[in-house]
Amino acid sequence: MSEVYCTVNDCHYWGQGNVCKANKILVASDDFGDSQPDQIDATMASQYSPTPSKGSCMSTCCKSYVPRGTNKINNDNITKMT
Ligand code: SF4
Repeated sequence: MSEVYCTVNDCHYWGQGNVCKANKILVASDDFGDSQPDQIDATMASQYSPTPSKGSCMSTCCKSYVPRGTNKINNDNITKMT
């Protein structure tokens, strides 16, 4: 994937240099992120309807975020690259 930088260092996919190590991610509106379970993520992204923001980066989120060290890391079928 193209380079994705992220400063959210409590995410399972975060890497040194603020690099996202996920093989794919899904960015969506906050409303979509709030309403969907962990299994709804990047692997099936082409099947979802577009989710407009409210005109601000503050109303978008990384749906692929997973807290590091939790048992949720396998819920989204995303691979962490080395
Ligand atoms: S999955 Fe999202 S929150 Fe996690 S490191 Fe990558 S861009 Fe950041």
